[in-house]
Amino acid sequence: MRRALLAALAFSPALVAPAALPAQQPATSELARLIETKLPAVMPKVVAWRRDIHEHPELSGQEVRTAKLVTDHLRALGIEVQEKMGMTGVVGVLKGGKPGPVVALRADMDGLPVTELVDLPFKSKAKAQWQGQEVGVMHACGHDNHVAILMGVAEVLAGMKAQVPGTVKFLFQPAEEGLGGAQAMVDAGALAAPTPSAVFGLHVWPTRVGSIGIRVGPQMAAAGNFTIIVKGKQTHGSQPWSGVDPIVVASQIVLGLQTIASRQVNVAYLPTVLTVGQIAGGNRSNIIPDSVVMVGTLRTFDDAMRKDIAARITRTAEQIAASAGATALVRIDRGGLVQANDTSLTERMLPTLKRTAGYGGFQTIGPIMGSEDFPVFAREIPSVFFFLGVTPKDKDLATVAVNHSPLFFADEGALETGVRAMANLATDYLSGAKPKP
Ligand SMILES: [Zn+2]
Ligand SMILES: [Zn+2]
Repeated sequence: MRRALLAALAFSPALVAPAALPAQQPATSELARLIETKLPAVMPKVVAWRRDIHEHPELSGQEVRTAKLVTDHLRALGIEVQEKMGMTGVVGVLKGGKPGPVVALRADMDGLPVTELVDLPFKSKAKAQWQGQEVGVMHACGHDNHVAILMGVAEVLAGMKAQVPGTVKFLFQPAEEGLGGAQAMVDAGALAAPTPSAVFGLHVWPTRVGSIGIRVGPQMAAAGNFTIIVKGKQTHGSQPWSGVDPIVVASQIVLGLQTIASRQVNVAYLPTVLTVGQIAGGNRSNIIPDSVVMVGTLRTFDDAMRKDIAARITRTAEQIAASAGATALVRIDRGGLVQANDTSLTERMLPTLKRTAGYGGFQTIGPIMGSEDFPVFAREIPSVFFFLGVTPKDKDLATVAVNHSPLFFADEGALETGVRAMANLATDYLSGAKPKP
């Protein structure tokens, strides 16, 4: 771990997109060729927007500056804009000059309470209040890239508006990082009038720059939190027999919970991860406290599995506590949704993704334990969500800093692949889908 950290610290990222990356496969349609003619003028702007947004990250639900940048840009392109669509959410509607269906493209806008350690001229120096403390703010999940890419797609498609066969809806989402931004947008009517018949999204990922990765079906886990309060009986640290030590009981529960994923559920069907990330109890070396609070996360890909594991968490905690004369109060949140790619839509769009993949190529990937709130948009609409590689070609994929790290770095060489892929997904979908009567 330390070695990896030192290697990452020594890493001095290239600032400019490498020019010599092999090109994607040639465009196969008139619309795809038109997109290629628009890219050279748009890409320098995308790079500039991404650097600007990277330097000025905003925490979830506070994306005021970013939303204004997006709004001003969409308006300048002649795109119809709706502001404050759920917190700072922005919806843009581009009506093409030809009849066709409606497709939505989504980008999330929020940064994280992380102090950036990557040495860039546009390194974030932003600070904000987070849980009562001043923290650094960083686009440590790479959403700066998502926003800049979608702004670029808007410019490309607005520049060929007369040829676009249908309507493109741009969803710039606040608060993806656990604060319900997608739901807020849906509640505000982001998917209404017009309602899209497909929605596409991407996430930058520490795979090879310019690669496109996707899994058909369940791709990203549903994340849910659980809380366990172990209630013992306070006593002096020198005479534990006079009380019930909740710290020892909590320790046994942590280990007991680890046997659920490793021994009790069929991880050959779909994987699951259960992590206790926070324990609080006691405030002095020689006082056994009355209680301990534990908070954790459960990651699953299947609702039946989630319910089964939730019951096992409760049983394990309660019965280990009972064996020591303590009690455990267990609360398990419903949590988020599994992000699953619609099988037939994904299969239909695979040629587009394969054709537009850049230097790193196209790859099918395994399930990812990370979670997303993109499936909130996809609950009633077929969707495709894919991963765009951003690891520079000379960096080791095994040790490179991943999303949410203060060392997370996205190679700008991926931006063009992102714009090309999203623009082509939109036009290929619109021209291939049967227009509604
Ligand atoms: Zn994230
Ligand atoms: Zn993210």
